[in-house]
Amino acid sequence: MRAPYGYKKSPENKHKLIPDEHAPIVQRMYRMAMEGKSCGVIANILKKESIPTPGAYLRDKDGILRKDERVKYPYDWIQSTVRDVLMKEVYIGNIVSLRYTSKSFKDKRLVQRPEEDWIKVENTHEPLIDEETFYTVQKRISIKRPKYKPNPENIFRGLLFCGECGSSLVYKRENCKTGTAKYNCNLHVHRGKKYCTTHTVKAEDLKTIVTGDINHHILLSKKDKNAYIQQLVCQSDSKLNGEKILYQKEMNKISQRLDELNVLLQSMYEDKVFKRISEERYSSMSSNFEKEETELKERYNEIKTKLSQYTQQNKSAKDFADLIEQYTPIKELDEILLNTLIKKIIVH
Ligand SMILES: [Zn+2]
Repeated sequence: MRAPYGYKKSPENKHKLIPDEHAPIVQRMYRMAMEGKSCGVIANILKKESIPTPGAYLRDKDGILRKDERVKYPYDWIQSTVRDVLMKEVYIGNIVSLRYTSKSFKDKRLVQRPEEDWIKVENTHEPLIDEETFYTVQKRISIKRPKYKPNPENIFRGLLFCGECGSSLVYKRENCKTGTAKYNCNLHVHRGKKYCTTHTVKAEDLKTIVTGDINHHILLSKKDKNAYIQQLVCQSDSKLNGEKILYQKEMNKISQRLDELNVLLQSMYEDKVFKRISEERYSSMSSNFEKEETELKERYNEIKTKLSQYTQQNKSAKDFADLIEQYTPIKELDEILLNTLIKKIIVH
């Protein structure tokens, strides 16, 4: 069992910790934290100075430090390694008991360590850090620590956007007792009225609206799926649907005109052959018609590409219908369901 970073087991008493050659690094880390440096900044400084990480070395039977050859990047300090050091009570001389360990890396059941590995603190070991420094650093770390903890209340996380400025909406608890909360425009909250007006929505209202809407879609998809898909396509962009009809009309006109041109060019050629028109007149007229033909063909292809994009849109409507059809009406929303069915909610 290895001693905590900055300590080694005393050669006289295996159960006692004494400072080792890394103790000054520990002390320096706390000083840097006191200066207001974040764990990430401290990690970068140590990395730049090629100071080996706690995991980069092993101490052999005789207490000599040796490089752990299995560690590929011995100087790669990361934020969490620094945080671990900055949170260990062992550095203020508090008791550590290492009598138990987990069974293996994967199996977290506790098993007793062999007695020779215990660190029983009979005499308090020498602290590396004074208590005042330690507790001040704890406060700073807890402020700087990002909130990784998932919040089951904030199920709309990442889905809500302000209809005016486009920034995301942030979650805010209104009342801890009743659990009411609301979402506000991020820009408004952090920069003020000048940047964006309040775009706010109560979490409860949002849940009611979204649950109702999802259930409405589920029922529609079950009632008549084809009609539902058609409705999705129309809804998703009725303007585009109007354009689609115009494009189709234009395509019909173009193909009509291309047929005409074909006939015209053919007859002009005959006129030329039978000398009904002059060579010069033929070449000027035919080059005009040919130019028109090329332009029309290009436009035709352009529209064809656009129309195939509409077909694509139809397909995604069908995919969504396939997905939502599998659900039965829901009572309670959760984050996974929301992220499966919803890409974005814009609050106006
Ligand atoms: Zn806004």
